[in-house]
Amino acid sequence: MNLDRAIEHVVDAAYVHATGSHLSRFFTALRDECAIHGARCARCGKVVVPPSGACELCGGALGELVRVGPGGVVRGMTQVAGGAPRAVVRVRLDGANTDLVHFGRDVARGMRVAPVWAAERSGTIRDIVCFARESPEQPSERRGEPVATVRAQLELHYRQAIGEVELKFREGLVRGEIGANRCAECGSVYVPPRPFCPSCFVPCGDWRVLGDTGTVTAFVTVNVPFTGQEIEIPYVLAHVQLDGADATFFHLIGATGPRGQLVAPPGGVRAGMRVRAGWRPEADRRGLLNDDIDHFDPAE
Ligand SMILES: [Zn+2]
Ligand SMILES: [Zn+2]
Repeated sequence: MNLDRAIEHVVDAAYVHATGSHLSRFFTALRDECAIHGARCARCGKVVVPPSGACELCGGALGELVRVGPGGVVRGMTQVAGGAPRAVVRVRLDGANTDLVHFGRDVARGMRVAPVWAAERSGTIRDIVCFARESPEQPSERRGEPVATVRAQLELHYRQAIGEVELKFREGLVRGEIGANRCAECGSVYVPPRPFCPSCFVPCGDWRVLGDTGTVTAFVTVNVPFTGQEIEIPYVLAHVQLDGADATFFHLIGATGPRGQLVAPPGGVRAGMRVRAGWRPEADRRGLLNDDIDHFDPAE
């Protein structure tokens, strides 16, 4: 099997934030009234938009909510290249002392603009599609439950180049072998193997293949559900120290449940417990420690 010399990674994190009272009112008014609110700083008296956290001008606590805009002036902009022509703009809404950052459509610096409201509004900043040249049209109002949360999605794609040591390790995994290497100075045996010893900063060598049995040195049972969770709770994550290794790595400790899913071991997990790797079939392996080994099974 020829492994790629780079790994594609995706950090895909979904968050749900509680809004707090000021942002709850801010988002609810966007959705129901097509109205924009700022908050007056209790220390400097300036009006901050959006009313999030503390005053961005002086750090003071935010006090009463103040209706601003909806019109304003473009104070700065960055044209975004490619795709539909649009810009990121800083708009100073009428009555505000800070700029709201949003998208602009066919705008220029110094132009009077107003929000273009989305037809379907859900209580997010995207209820404003963008800012465009001011016109007299007014959107319709509606009523709904106050907005209590903000959903945010962070998605980050990156490519990681694979060095010689990691490539050798990954090729071994596909064959069902767990490679390790050893620091010539302190004698520590690393798995996954390392190009350099993190303690002594000297190159590691002395390659060896370890067995797939080891010991749990520490563990945590995950009982709390969270957005994006892929494994059914409760499940157990542990530091596993393979026999002959000095370093540990994180892996799942489990057993196969009635529907083929991973479950926490029926007899529980303890520090010092003996475990053995539960490998995926060779055809499914991709040279990844936390995937080619599906989990570790109790072995006592
Ligand atoms: Zn202030
Ligand atoms: Zn060392």
